[in-house]
Amino acid sequence: MRRVSVFGATGSIGVNTLDLIGRRPGAFQVVALSGGRNVKLLAQQARQFNAEIAVTAHEDCLEELREALAGAGTEVAAGKDALIEAALRPADWVMSAIVGAAGLAPGFAALSQGTTLALANKESLVTAGPLLLAEAQKHGARILPVDSEHSAVFQALVGEDYAAVERVIITASGGAFRDWPLEKLKEATVAQASTHPNWAMGQRITIDSASMFNKAMELIETKEFFGFPPEMIEAVVHPESMIHALVGFKDGALMAHLGAPDMRHAIGYALNWPEREDLPVKRLDLVEIGKLTFRKADEARFPALRLAREVMATGGTAGAAFNAAKEAALDAFIAEEIGFLDMGALVTAVLTEMSARHGLGKPLENLDMVYQTDATARALARQVIPSLR
Ligand code: NDP
Ligand code: MG
Repeated sequence: MRRVSVFGATGSIGVNTLDLIGRRPGAFQVVALSGGRNVKLLAQQARQFNAEIAVTAHEDCLEELREALAGAGTEVAAGKDALIEAALRPADWVMSAIVGAAGLAPGFAALSQGTTLALANKESLVTAGPLLLAEAQKHGARILPVDSEHSAVFQALVGEDYAAVERVIITASGGAFRDWPLEKLKEATVAQASTHPNWAMGQRITIDSASMFNKAMELIETKEFFGFPPEMIEAVVHPESMIHALVGFKDGALMAHLGAPDMRHAIGYALNWPEREDLPVKRLDLVEIGKLTFRKADEARFPALRLAREVMATGGTAGAAFNAAKEAALDAFIAEEIGFLDMGALVTAVLTEMSARHGLGKPLENLDMVYQTDATARALARQVIPSLR
């Protein structure tokens, strides 16, 4: 039996991961499960999978978790340190699916036990890519991408020579507002931005899809994970979300990865790697689909994409600043403190200010540098927010 842990078990990726684990009884032993405020679901999952330990990220949720798991034979714990300790428990496979920068530390800790880390938490690569890869190498650990585009690139590269790669194209659905005129975007509400035409995902990444900040994160993620130079990486809008990414080779060949927009595909690939197993995902009927369409990802319409280019060119601490500013902007939008288009303006202002005041791009030496940059960017964002109202 393979020992597996799932961080962010109560989220969209976590629930899909446990769905796949539950379909193969006897194949997996669940070590640790983590959640945040959804204690009821976490306790239910811990009982169903007979987990060794269940951890909530929040200390004030510990009592509720303890009560919900009374008599279940599952240990309980709470807080950031408890998450890290749980990540250090020996496991063969660890899913990193906490949302936001909070997902970095547990995933990083899991690498130190030489595990296979299935990485959904793109923030880890955006904020601390070089540190994460170095940590994996140091401990003989492996990172497998779970973001659908990066799983697609990974699969297109199996057996290929990286030196023969000419370009990488990741696709973007365009999110909730792909057909909205720019003037209307100003008025977009949280509820409108929280629906996605193709994918069922957590609220934060759904809004990031509408603003293209998700695609911006993914451009950076592609650079960090695969090591291709930024000028080889592009995003193209593909409203059907059937092709997840394409890899172009120097002989002109393009290898595309197609699949139904269902995260269980990428999760299952990482879970079963290097094998492939049956997955409960819809099979594409190409005749029924008929045609696939593509459009330019407009950098004027989506400042996030332009910012991603700057972050990739700058490197070092720029990724952590970008992510933190983006998270702060998203918090402010969800709290209805700023409008939809203000998110791009806020992130731009924070990066400009940080670059002038502190200089961005210092090579990352340790996680503390990431956390300090993150804290500085969030503080700056809070200072800028009132001017946007
Ligand atoms: P969700 O919002 O659905 O779930 C997030 C999970 O993280 C929940 O378990 C939540 O707990 C937990 N959590 C929230 N805040 C904290 C915190 N401060 N500390 C510890 N745990 C916390 O997110 P998704 O599943 O959509 O996304 C997870 C990650 O995967 C993100 O990095 C996202 O970008 C990435 N991803 C997601 C995709 C998708 O299809 N959803 C696709 C590709 C990548 P609780 O709910 O109990 O409070
Ligand atoms: Mg993605």
